[in-house]
Amino acid sequence: MQEITIFWFRRDLRLNNNTALFHALKSGNPVIPIFIFDSHILNKLEDRHDRRVGFIHAAIVEIQKTLVQVSSSLEVYFGNPPEVFADLLTRYKILKVFCNNDYEPYAIERDKEVAELLKNNGAALYGFKDHVVFEKKEVLKDDGKPYTIFTPYSKKWINKLTDHHLQHYPSEKYINLFYKQDPKQIPLLSSMGFKTVDQPFPSKILNEQIVMEYSEKRDLPGLNGTSKMGVHLRFGTVSIREIAVKAKALNKTYLNELIWRDFYHMILWHFPDTGKAFKPKYDTIEWRRDEGEFDKWCMGQTGYPIVDAGMRELNTTGFMHNRVRMITASFLTRHLLLDWRLGEAYFAQKLFDFDLAANNGGWQWAAGSGCDAAPYFRIFNPYLQTKKFDPTLEYIKKWVPEFQEFNYPQPIVDHVMARDRCLEVYGRALKNSKL
Ligand code: FAD
Repeated sequence: MQEITIFWFRRDLRLNNNTALFHALKSGNPVIPIFIFDSHILNKLEDRHDRRVGFIHAAIVEIQKTLVQVSSSLEVYFGNPPEVFADLLTRYKILKVFCNNDYEPYAIERDKEVAELLKNNGAALYGFKDHVVFEKKEVLKDDGKPYTIFTPYSKKWINKLTDHHLQHYPSEKYINLFYKQDPKQIPLLSSMGFKTVDQPFPSKILNEQIVMEYSEKRDLPGLNGTSKMGVHLRFGTVSIREIAVKAKALNKTYLNELIWRDFYHMILWHFPDTGKAFKPKYDTIEWRRDEGEFDKWCMGQTGYPIVDAGMRELNTTGFMHNRVRMITASFLTRHLLLDWRLGEAYFAQKLFDFDLAANNGGWQWAAGSGCDAAPYFRIFNPYLQTKKFDPTLEYIKKWVPEFQEFNYPQPIVDHVMARDRCLEVYGRALKNSKL
């Protein structure tokens, strides 16, 4: 059997500027690229029209087109990754498997299992940093501990940054080194129980004008003022280094958001128990239980136009503007006093750019329980937020056109009462907790 190297695509669905792919192609043996639709992840998705699955499928079809031009092919599987590798080991003499690091708890366990299996079969798994600019323990406090506060982390991050960290790995130059074989079929979405989503593949080009005007426009949901790069960064259809190079040259505020992204990935890696409040005493808060109110929040029927606009944007498009993510999350946890984990799970189900690190970070920030979170007594007033960030009501009019009509619901909760209740319930828990 011919000795081969495997390149395993995961959160890096591109052929260009891909760190592990570059190293795989330069490693000497022909490279077979694979992608696994992970049944463990897919079977948990509720929506058979899931946008993310459609997006991944479209991205790998695009990769396949290029590979076929160089007489190579992706091998695409649907199953449990260790089992897929066990099967591959019977068919090929695999020496090395290259992939880019994934920092989610499930992925770390999965990779351990695959690495063990490979080791028992005389092969090895090599992981590379590609998904973030700085990973794991690269940016630590002087005492060697992880930062849990963003500002000092970001300062250290910037001080540490050199051109080397943003270097281009020209994997695209070596695609002739892929293993030559006839094109293999890519499973249809329907064969995995999913349906095609009627949605164009979002542009991969970073709009530099938006980046240049980002500081002024990023907080105004009525404008097209943010880059919409979330989904591309999530699935690696665009390289974070490429985006960071532009951010560095064009706008420091935009770069700062990319640092938040690294920060949350670093936090997830050091503190993987995302089901618990980062600050334990927040788990003593007595959350209310009210399915009716939760459903109204989900459906955008709270009677608070800015909250409803956000939830309707999410339900319709899979996207929600960052400012409105903050407002809707704050509303659920503070005004309705419902557990942040409910909202987190709903966002996880709906967000096109869903990412465990940023979503958990964002929710815990809003609930106050996060590492560097909003203090418990700072409660967003949805009306003031509207005045400030949607002053011409452009955003609200788009998503809640009936907001001034008689059929629009009355607020499900009074702002002043909800604010006082939140202060009281949070205050009681935080004061009494010995944690
Ligand atoms: P831009 O404003 O153009 O920012 C550029 C990129 O920077 C983003 O694509 C993203 O990768 C990164 N970024 C920006 N803000 C943040 C942030 N606060 N934290 C981490 N990274 C950031 N982001 C996700 O990528 N996935 C999520 O699941 C997610 N869930 C969130 C949940 C809540 C409750 C909150 C408050 C925020 C969440 N965010 C999440 C962060 C942020 O809202 C999105 O990254 C952003 O709205 C995506 O739109 P954009 O690509 O136009 O971002």
